[in-house]
Amino acid sequence: MSAITSPPPNRVSLLALDNYDPAAVETAVATLLAPLGGMEAFVKPGRQVLIKPNMLSGKDPARAVTTHPQIVRAVIRLAMSAGGLVSVGDSPGIGSPIAVARKTGILDVIEETGARFAPFSDSVIIHPQGTSLHQIEVARDILAADVIINLPKLKTHQMMGLTCAVKNMFGALIGMRKPGMHLQAGTDKNLFARMLLEICETLAPTLNIVDAVIGMEGEGPGNGDPVKIGVLLAGMSAQAVDTVATALVKMQPEQVFTQQQALATGRPLARLAELELDGTPLAELQIDHFRAAKMTDVNFGIPGYLGRRLKHLLTAHPQVDHQRCMRCHACVKHCPPQAMAIVKDRLNINYDLCIRCFCCQELCPYAALSTRQGLLLRLSSLMRH
Ligand code: SF4
Ligand code: SF4
Repeated sequence: MSAITSPPPNRVSLLALDNYDPAAVETAVATLLAPLGGMEAFVKPGRQVLIKPNMLSGKDPARAVTTHPQIVRAVIRLAMSAGGLVSVGDSPGIGSPIAVARKTGILDVIEETGARFAPFSDSVIIHPQGTSLHQIEVARDILAADVIINLPKLKTHQMMGLTCAVKNMFGALIGMRKPGMHLQAGTDKNLFARMLLEICETLAPTLNIVDAVIGMEGEGPGNGDPVKIGVLLAGMSAQAVDTVATALVKMQPEQVFTQQQALATGRPLARLAELELDGTPLAELQIDHFRAAKMTDVNFGIPGYLGRRLKHLLTAHPQVDHQRCMRCHACVKHCPPQAMAIVKDRLNINYDLCIRCFCCQELCPYAALSTRQGLLLRLSSLMRH
């Protein structure tokens, strides 16, 4: 028996598909994955597989807000055939995970196939190495998986330009953590895009399969219009898949903040020329009529004082232990936005300026800085338990 080897990370498979007929979808997903070695290249018998669709809110699948349940069903069945122990879950932007799963038709296919519903009700704090993220709180269901299959819907996004594989992994953060990170980035879309890239790179989905059969144009990700794109795409790299998705709808990388920042920071697989495309030629699948979103601020356009208050309530922030602080100025000198000062012999943090990088906590020689969760985060944790 020949060994199944992993495909190269720069390979992206494309396939035309113009409807969600269950049998057609199942055949199409299997055909799509063949150039990548099939599902067996990613899922081994007995492995815990977490399928993460886009479950933004509880809308009918025809609205194209969420990954179509027939795509979820086909991927569950293939992963189970490969011997995987399959769970499906996401953290919606609006509504409880179970209610959203029911309204989007995803719960029906979970129950039909015998997969497990992953509640995304509990989170774990992790400290991603080599990133600017000091800490993120990620759903325990994601961290428990051996294999993550990322199942985004291709949609416009009024803050980021497009949402696809990279942005879909933001759903690994549960509940109030998501708006907290939006507010942490403030109006700096480039900073928010880099956060999204780092979250996706940290969680490193094993396989990404994009539902671009019916995508969303206009005021996405929640209120745009369904648009027929007629394509499935898949690859090991979320970045590579997003590079192809951007070209598929003929958007420029400058219009998609995660693409623009991937290029600006020299990340690999952000240029089409680096990729190996397989399946239906991209030129045959590209659409000319895709309508971009009207862009809004990354902090939801919440004005001044209210936005600052919400940011403080929704994010973790550094807290000074004045008994331990020796007023050595080390943190003051290195705080990137100069949010720290010694005033009247006491360390003061301007939380309006603070970007929550936690550099101060890392370099304080006296362990005088701790992490304090925002009040709303603490309350939402209490309510979940
Ligand atoms: S580095 Fe630590 S001890 Fe020094 S001023 Fe900052 S908090 Fe205080
Ligand atoms: S006070 Fe400065 S160094 Fe500390 S977390 Fe905020 S921005 Fe970063």
